[in-house]
Amino acid sequence: MLFYSTENPTKKTDLREALLKGLADDNGLYMPESIPALPPDILRRLGTLSFHEMAYWMAAPFMEAELGTRKLKALIEDAFDFEVPLVPICRDIASLELFHGPTLAFKDFGARFLARLLGHFTKESQQEVTILVATSGDTGSAVANGFLGVPGIRVFVLYPSGLVSSSQEKQFTTLGHNITALEIQGTFDDCQRLVKQAFLDRDLRNRMTLTSANSISLGRLIPQMFYYAWAAAQMLPEMVKQQKKLIASVPSGNFGNLTAGLMAKKMGIPIHHFIAATNVNDIVPIWLETGSYRPRPSIATLANAMDVGTPSNFARILDLYGNDHKAVCEDISGYRYTDEEIRNIMRTCYRETGYILDPHGATGYEALRSFLEKSPDYGGFFVETAHPAKFPESVESTLQIHLTVPEKLQEFLRREKKSVVLTKQFETFKDFLSEA
Ligand SMILES: *Cc1c(COP(=O)(O)O)cnc(C)c1O
Repeated sequence: MLFYSTENPTKKTDLREALLKGLADDNGLYMPESIPALPPDILRRLGTLSFHEMAYWMAAPFMEAELGTRKLKALIEDAFDFEVPLVPICRDIASLELFHGPTLAFKDFGARFLARLLGHFTKESQQEVTILVATSGDTGSAVANGFLGVPGIRVFVLYPSGLVSSSQEKQFTTLGHNITALEIQGTFDDCQRLVKQAFLDRDLRNRMTLTSANSISLGRLIPQMFYYAWAAAQMLPEMVKQQKKLIASVPSGNFGNLTAGLMAKKMGIPIHHFIAATNVNDIVPIWLETGSYRPRPSIATLANAMDVGTPSNFARILDLYGNDHKAVCEDISGYRYTDEEIRNIMRTCYRETGYILDPHGATGYEALRSFLEKSPDYGGFFVETAHPAKFPESVESTLQIHLTVPEKLQEFLRREKKSVVLTKQFETFKDFLSEA
């Protein structure tokens, strides 16, 4: 399988190069040249596959030829050594809990898969690779932990000083070894800009092999398809019995997670409709409603991993639908929530169902609930992107409860933070990298 850039569909690249580059030279995002449907007999027996088998069938068209069947299967088994439960919350609504990985957030899926893929390619070529990753919270911890100790790879995590919760910060500033945390005096958008600029900088590129692990990386996008297939396969029999259509609701920031869902749909996974749920950074919901795309500086919210003013995967969604606004609107509905609404959602859900939502999942849950109220011929799941204990300040104050901190998190909290503070000027960052 070859991959093209959203900026130039005629120029194609192989998997290895697409992974090592992260972003194409022309600043476009890599897309697979085709998104083949699953074989009909696999689609028929979707419900009988294990998570690992499902992942294999979803990944195979994109990388089996390059990696070989054995390597691909081993990589999947190694990356996903944790549970992916689909938990019923109330009538017609289930929570797809993607927070059972090592950093308790869904980004573990993409990061662990990508780390193993890159590890495979660097081992083959004995080439040292430098990874730059900008994070508003969860990406940094997932990527840093995913790559910790992978030979031949160094990771620099850029994060906005003071805008990341202390428990998130501890998960990528305490690791040491091949992981360095850079505390940038600016916003998440500044961090993202620094990373993008570094990729376009000739000097730096001549000096080192730079690659990205942000949600723009194909190596993160592809594994995010797996759990949509997995959840759909489990919910489908009940939906068919009730003659309902399946819908998935996705709390979104950079829109990598939703893009992967749309790709899974293209492969034949029977999810009829999607919801893009956001906080007040509602650039995509506005675009869905008006057709007018206006990126703007991000606003800080309770659901801070979705504080994105320039959604980096938006170009992929446009590409998937051939720039057809109407076609996108047929598949996606947009919803957005203020912080006050998010708190109310968390309270109501807890009171009525006993389920503890985190602030991100709360947007997905409520959007789904609202949608089902108007469209009772649907049923579905929302993606619960992080464990509530990752946001103890907001969850405890909102629900007036005491959360027990999972052991995986306590372990991080006990360690000592180490970071390098840098201004948001590109030159400072470049000098630092050049000497690192
Ligand atoms: C990253 C993240 C999101 C947003 O995912 P995108 O793929 O950027 O849309 C939502 N919730 C949590 C907890 C996250 O870490």
